[in-house]
Amino acid sequence: MGIAHLIVDAALFPRDKICGDGLDLKVIRVLRHLDPLIVEQEIPKNQHFTPCWGTRFFTQNGRATDFVHVPPAGAPLPHPLFWTARRVHFDAFLVQKLDPRFADIRLGTRVEKIVRDGAVWRVFARKQELEIEINTPLIIGADGEHSVLLRHLGERPINRRHYAGTLRQYWRDVAGLSPHNLIEVYFPPGLPMSYFYIFPLSNGEANVGYGMVSEVASKGKFNLRDIFKRLVTEDPVMAPRFESATPLEQVQGWGLPLASRRRKAGGDGYLLVGDAASLVCPTSGEGIGTGMISGFIAAKFAQKALINKRFDDEQFKNYSREIHRRLNDEIRLYNLMMQVSPRLYDLGLNLLAPNPLFQWSFRRRVGGWLRTAYETPIEVNI
Ligand SMILES: Cc1cc2nc3c(=O)[nH]c(=O)nc-3n(C[C@H](O)[C@H](O)[C@H](O)COP(=O)(O)OP(=O)(O)OC[C@H]3O[C@@H](n4cnc5c(N)ncnc54)[C@H](O)[C@@H]3O)c2cc1C
Repeated sequence: MGIAHLIVDAALFPRDKICGDGLDLKVIRVLRHLDPLIVEQEIPKNQHFTPCWGTRFFTQNGRATDFVHVPPAGAPLPHPLFWTARRVHFDAFLVQKLDPRFADIRLGTRVEKIVRDGAVWRVFARKQELEIEINTPLIIGADGEHSVLLRHLGERPINRRHYAGTLRQYWRDVAGLSPHNLIEVYFPPGLPMSYFYIFPLSNGEANVGYGMVSEVASKGKFNLRDIFKRLVTEDPVMAPRFESATPLEQVQGWGLPLASRRRKAGGDGYLLVGDAASLVCPTSGEGIGTGMISGFIAAKFAQKALINKRFDDEQFKNYSREIHRRLNDEIRLYNLMMQVSPRLYDLGLNLLAPNPLFQWSFRRRVGGWLRTAYETPIEVNI
């Protein structure tokens, strides 16, 4: 939008980020908005990106059901349902898209403190020994799960009902991956509100992970690291896949702030995006696309504030509504499951996934999802 801004990130890129590395159609939608050539040419030609043509669900009885969407032969632009790319590559790919004509980019610079001074923010940051002070009427807090801005707002405490603990480990040579690079999700028996996943990557590697809603983990005294170990070594469905596979790192852990929390994400002189706004989809665990869409929406609100030359609460009062609007169905479903019984999720999927009617309705809906991602502009009601 041509808005001059200063962007501060503690990291130098490329850098790792603990994640499943699954890029859904929301990501594609935002990237297409920036430039259609990114998704039509750059990503398909980039060796770090893997096209995934659907999902494989393992229900609790160990039965696999594939939801495959393969493009018709000769289709001019085959659109996979997901891409995967290690975040170390994907995030660096995004950073090199920053346009220095508008973005004053400060990498390797950690924000340490934020102070409100009248209508201005004073942001204190450090780049190695160098101390920097930035003054601004508007901050967009995009600093993830441990956001400094959230801490300043007093919003950081975790609500376990709306939070998930997750683990990731990269592996090589996991057996039985689908030739369509299906994203695999397994709902292990006796472990409610959790799933184990295998996401195929380039070079015969896979991102393997496990996550569980923190309230369920704490009430059931589930230890996620023990469960993960058991799944890859003893579980009758998953362990055989890992017998000849090699782990490429220690198991890594990170938290997921779920959108069901409905955090107030905009106020006097600030907007929150992505994990800082608690925007991870509570039923799928995806937060990259929802984060990127919130960035897009935040830019629209920033533009409005700049035109009005006002950065007060009133300017951003519809922001939270707009970022949650696209997640309302998932939030409702999640809250219902948590209220009635966390086991409802597993039972529902057990019944639904193998059901031919459900599979038929999935195939019908794929066309609509692809059209939204590839053809429908992102509308923001500011
Ligand atoms: C195990 C796991 C699997 C997941 N799998 C998926 C998946 O497959 N698909 C999906 O869509 N989502 C997935 N997610 C969720 C996804 O990773 C997050 O929702 C997403 O990364 C949020 O993006 P973000 O930009 O808000 O935060 P982040 O990606 O965490 O980025 C925050 C940035 O802020 C910077 N920063 C932090 N503090 C400071 C500071 N003080 N000063 C300056 N800079 C700072 C960091 O360096 C970082 O670059 C997964 C998460 C986990 C943990």
